[in-house]
Amino acid sequence: MSNAFFVTTPIYYPNGVPHIGNAYASIIADVLARYHRQKGDTVRFSTGVDENSQKIVDKAAELGLPVMEYLDQMAVEHRRVWDGIDISYTDFVRTTSPSHAAFVQSVLQKSFDNGDIYEGVYEGMYCRGCEGFKKATDLTPAGKCPDHPTQEVEHLKEKNYFFRLSRYTEQLQAFYAANPHFVTPQNRFNEVLEFVNQGLEDFSVSRETNKFGIPLPFDGSQVTYVWYDALFNYISTLGDEADTFWPAQVHVVAKDIIRFHAIFWPAMLLSAGYALPGNIVTTGYFTIDGQKISKSLGNVIDPVEYAAKYSRDLLVNYLLTTIPIGQDGDFSEKESVLAFNNRLANTLGNLLNRCLVLTLKNGGTIAVHPYQSDLAAAREALLLTYERAFAAFDLRGALIATYEFAESLNKYIDTVRPWELVDVDPAKLEDVMYQVAESLRTMAILLHPFFSPKMEELLSRIGVPKDVVLMKNGNMGAALERKTGFSVLEKGEPLYMRISL
Ligand SMILES: [Zn+2]
Repeated sequence: MSNAFFVTTPIYYPNGVPHIGNAYASIIADVLARYHRQKGDTVRFSTGVDENSQKIVDKAAELGLPVMEYLDQMAVEHRRVWDGIDISYTDFVRTTSPSHAAFVQSVLQKSFDNGDIYEGVYEGMYCRGCEGFKKATDLTPAGKCPDHPTQEVEHLKEKNYFFRLSRYTEQLQAFYAANPHFVTPQNRFNEVLEFVNQGLEDFSVSRETNKFGIPLPFDGSQVTYVWYDALFNYISTLGDEADTFWPAQVHVVAKDIIRFHAIFWPAMLLSAGYALPGNIVTTGYFTIDGQKISKSLGNVIDPVEYAAKYSRDLLVNYLLTTIPIGQDGDFSEKESVLAFNNRLANTLGNLLNRCLVLTLKNGGTIAVHPYQSDLAAAREALLLTYERAFAAFDLRGALIATYEFAESLNKYIDTVRPWELVDVDPAKLEDVMYQVAESLRTMAILLHPFFSPKMEELLSRIGVPKDVVLMKNGNMGAALERKTGFSVLEKGEPLYMRISL
């Protein structure tokens, strides 16, 4: 019986193309999806675009395009990026779709009927750029929005509907206490807990002034504003499979939307009668070579161009090994190349190369041998670390443990000096090569969710393409457990070419 696994990225704003920070979140979700597929889980993986917003209407007007034409173009652009870096999503959400609108209206009606949504008046300073009301303490001394200092904030008073978040404070606190790892990493969770403990205020869920969006089913003069529209994409996309795939195991989000995902969202779900998601994995922000990412600085990195210039594997290796999930990080092109050369070209690529060359010198085949006890122990430790790391969404931990195992194999070869055994002791050489090949096979299986095509190539080159078939059929466990010999036909090109700076 296979388990359902549902992972989501945020739905991204379609007022621009995805940048490296978006790609980072999508790559994390992608690796989790691939890992669960090869373990045999049935995976849904959703991403998409958050389309209903006044800003989008303004942007389309600026470009002289009908809104839907603009949105259609941007949806194509977003898919081009995710397809371009091989993100294995199963669902691409567009919040302008009729099925999404119908679902959002149904949950709004539920919460209206049970008294969690009520009519009130919103009065305050409003920033058009943020599409949000601002408290006096949010503004600069000059009374401007810090993010939109060239615009005036407006005084706005309008009828709004509110969600009764205050009613859910205790239920949320009880949920957090029962789920102490709800938010990854822990320091972000601590911020959420502190915020909730200060007491929660109801929040506005509709707008009278915006016209582009999903009308409230109980008051057609208003459209729903941001939260119901955006957050419920995670369920609307499942359609009639919601019973199987909801709740999601993981929402991957950037840190600016953590409160909405860790506080608003669970309360809205409780109100509408849905189970709560398993975990919110939060990513930090990037600078590029120490500078803020901005169009005017010209340092915006297009993930597809970057992957085309180097490789997807370089990008994935760098993003996932440099920055522990949840922390801010600095993106450096030079460091990304060095990390690739170090881990993939030198450590892993070199190990494979040594294995291929020495095996060919010894007839090209390796029969099954006993796996040395110290290596077997190191392999067991690696498998345990790897599983625990994935369970904690610590992809960096999983990668680094695997690379360290590869380094230990390179040291083993340096110590054993198998090249001195060629023609002298073929039986001993074959045993040594078995140790190396079996270790490489293990690592390729573990690294497959990160670097799928190259790891499949590695397994083919040491003569065990059956492992690829096993993983594709969800039998990662069987692949890891089986005993097999190896065969090598040719040395071939390096698996990963070193890149000179
Ligand atoms: Zn603003």
